[in-house]
Amino acid sequence: MFCKRYPNFIGFDIYIRVIGNILLLLFFIFLIMTKDYVICGTRNSNIGLPTGLKILSEGGCALDAVEESIKLIENNPYDITVGFNGFPNLMGIVELDASIMEGKTRRAGAVAAVKNFRHPISIARKVMELTPHAFLVGEGAERFARALDFKEEAIIDELGIKNYHNVMEGKDLEMPSEAQKLVRELFMRFDVHLKNVMEEYPVMEWYRKFSFDKHGTTNVIALDQKGDLAVGVSTSGLAMKFPGRVGDSPVIGAGIYCTDKAGAACTGTGELVLRLSIARLVVDRMENNFQPEAAAETGILELKKIQEEGVLHILTLDKFGRSAGVTNKSGLYHYYADSTMDDIEKKASTYMKL
Ligand code: ASP
Repeated sequence: MFCKRYPNFIGFDIYIRVIGNILLLLFFIFLIMTKDYVICGTRNSNIGLPTGLKILSEGGCALDAVEESIKLIENNPYDITVGFNGFPNLMGIVELDASIMEGKTRRAGAVAAVKNFRHPISIARKVMELTPHAFLVGEGAERFARALDFKEEAIIDELGIKNYHNVMEGKDLEMPSEAQKLVRELFMRFDVHLKNVMEEYPVMEWYRKFSFDKHGTTNVIALDQKGDLAVGVSTSGLAMKFPGRVGDSPVIGAGIYCTDKAGAACTGTGELVLRLSIARLVVDRMENNFQPEAAAETGILELKKIQEEGVLHILTLDKFGRSAGVTNKSGLYHYYADSTMDDIEKKASTYMKL
């Protein structure tokens, strides 16, 4: 009887050792797979991400990497969706929105409808760091920026003005002519006859049609060497928007969210993202152990619940350095780089047909 138990004990010992070795191996595989630092951004972020990557490689923090990358994108005069030369509102005035969020503390700062300042992302960061608030808009945000010596300047040049007039004068070939007519009517009759225009024209329908391509945003998400995550978003919003219109980008939980475990940000039809609180939903999924891609897919699926036409791209990154871009518009992509790479890489975003 005893002889029978002895071999069993040996078997148990070996069993424990094998399990121990497997766990050790898994731990090493996990360490190898976990990236020291990562940065990713939407399709217009290639101009800024190399700077963010450098900051991270030198041990800088995720917040700095995000802010400095986005500042370069905001500076790009050829990007009509962000910062300088961002597409103006109906009245020809550029109004910018931006937000930034730090994962480990869940501190956030945002600004909206800011005129004449080139770097709303930096103003948003100051709102987060220096004020008791999380969100400043319009004149209040501008006043705050002025008080902090941010440079006040024109943020549209001849190129931006020409783009705006092309739409107004019907020279924009990409825009359906009916939509252009609507835009002109809205512009000319905004103050006194807006109510009539809204009754005469299918405003909602036409906005949806022409806005399909006339908008964009930049999202940047970074994970630094300390394992901290940060997300930033900056946009000029929807082209030809009503003055004062604010989309999802500066709204914490809608266009942006970040915890110590995961970050997410959106681009696309801001009104839908706002109504569905997409970024918070996706981050919650990742907090509950969804892989970034699966989490983003659940965000895209939300669109089905309201059955309305719109574009959505969701970018995600988790604390293990795993990222994904998922969208309901084919052909979209994003950029990615990590500690094993010298340069950023273009990656196709996963297309989900709804
Ligand atoms: N989401 C942005 C907004 O609605 C625009 C975009 O990303 O295309 O302001």
